[in-house]
Amino acid sequence: MNPIDLTARELAAAIAAGDVTATDATQAYLDAIAAHDGAIGAYNEVFPAQALAQAAAVDAARAAGEPLGPLAGVPVAIKDNMCLDYGHTTCSSQMLKSFQAPYTATAVQKLLDAGAVILGKTNLDEFAMGSSTENSGMSPTRNPWDTDCVPGGSSGGSAAAVAGRLCAAALGSDTGGSIRQPAAFCGIVGLKPTYGCVSRFGLVAYGSSLDQIGPMTRDTADAALLTGIIAGGDDRDSTSIHQDVPDYLADLDTPLEGLRIGLPTEFFTDALDPEIAATIDQAVETYRAQGATIVEVSLPHSRIDTDAAGQLSSFAVATYYVVATAEASSNLARFDGIRYGHRTSEEIDDIVELYSASRAEGFGEEVKRRIMLGTFALSSGYYDAYYNKALKVRRLIKNDFDAAFAQCDVICCPTTPTTAFRFGEKTDDPLQMYLADIYTISLNLAGLPGVSIPAGVSTGNMPIGMQLIGPVFSEPTLLRAARLFETHSDLGILTPPAR
Ligand code: GLN
Repeated sequence: MNPIDLTARELAAAIAAGDVTATDATQAYLDAIAAHDGAIGAYNEVFPAQALAQAAAVDAARAAGEPLGPLAGVPVAIKDNMCLDYGHTTCSSQMLKSFQAPYTATAVQKLLDAGAVILGKTNLDEFAMGSSTENSGMSPTRNPWDTDCVPGGSSGGSAAAVAGRLCAAALGSDTGGSIRQPAAFCGIVGLKPTYGCVSRFGLVAYGSSLDQIGPMTRDTADAALLTGIIAGGDDRDSTSIHQDVPDYLADLDTPLEGLRIGLPTEFFTDALDPEIAATIDQAVETYRAQGATIVEVSLPHSRIDTDAAGQLSSFAVATYYVVATAEASSNLARFDGIRYGHRTSEEIDDIVELYSASRAEGFGEEVKRRIMLGTFALSSGYYDAYYNKALKVRRLIKNDFDAAFAQCDVICCPTTPTTAFRFGEKTDDPLQMYLADIYTISLNLAGLPGVSIPAGVSTGNMPIGMQLIGPVFSEPTLLRAARLFETHSDLGILTPPAR
């Protein structure tokens, strides 16, 4: 048995049963990273010594007959915008390239407490701003399905590591689609939990009213396992919600009685790649065959339009790029070369000029664009026209979802309008890049959970993702609905051709 072929759950069971040691499993992944990550670039930093020490501790605990955590010995990867009290936490930015966090993010600590082995930190678009990892201040990550294509973003490193068998599971963060879009592009499962479900203590903030940490895994059972481990209230994150964490795995395989699937009319327009539309249609038929009722629902303020020139547009994307950039401009103010981050080596006496020079050197182009956009939207005289207006539209978007969930339990739609695109295809026009999240962004504005699962493979042999959306804290239903498709489609766990 090759430990790399197992899901996180299977590997935890194999280690607990003594079929493989945590040390051998960890070494197998370290070898895979050494052999293949040169071509993929999923990791910013790998921790062989610490990972092997964590694995040895699991093996010793097992030998001593001590109880093992649910992820004991399972090698995982962490997006490099989550703090870990060793190594670096760079957010793939030159601004933080030498930052060593003095503490560990709650979600990461919970994985460690469950026995997980941390292989390393994965690449992202700088400060999680982007949809392809091309905005990384380090170097881009490649899609294991086709290395000429992007893995999606911003959690592209985590997605590529899971798909490329360079870890058993990973954590990502999602502000507007950054878990689900790369999951779709790489053929894996990615869950963005309800806002407040998972603590963000130790997650470097991007858009604080939108950010959530979530699992990126090979199948829905692993997503359920990891969500159960990382979810729950945390006194160190006042936006996290204190309530009992359900056992997401308990009823995962029990079919949902009377499941009502909603299809938003506004999402199935000419703008959608016909092959993706056909794949989602087929998935809907799988649900129908399992006894689900299919209903049409309406999300007018998340409507996807195409203008005469074929250009996509959506209120949700416009709203998001005001709210997210406004929050980013404020969150990123702390990186000034004094309190945090890169300081210019120029001899400058004036403090404002020192800030300015340090930030000009430390931040990449897209991050600067976002800071300027957000600062403008919040500035006196423009606040009402942009920021307040965006908040009003945000409410309308949320109200549409509330109305839709009176008619259905789960909304089903594509995760992305196309499959993974090629490097450079969207880098000249930021708006084109922003539109890659047209199906994922409205959920973050509404605080809802969403999961992307593989729904098919295109004729070009690239994965196609399907997104399921539910009301707040409906993760148990969402995961069961995802599992229903997973077990009744012929797809199985997708493996990229080269692995
Ligand atoms: N692509 C979106 C952005 O650039 C979403 C990113 C994310 O979810 N972190 O803002």
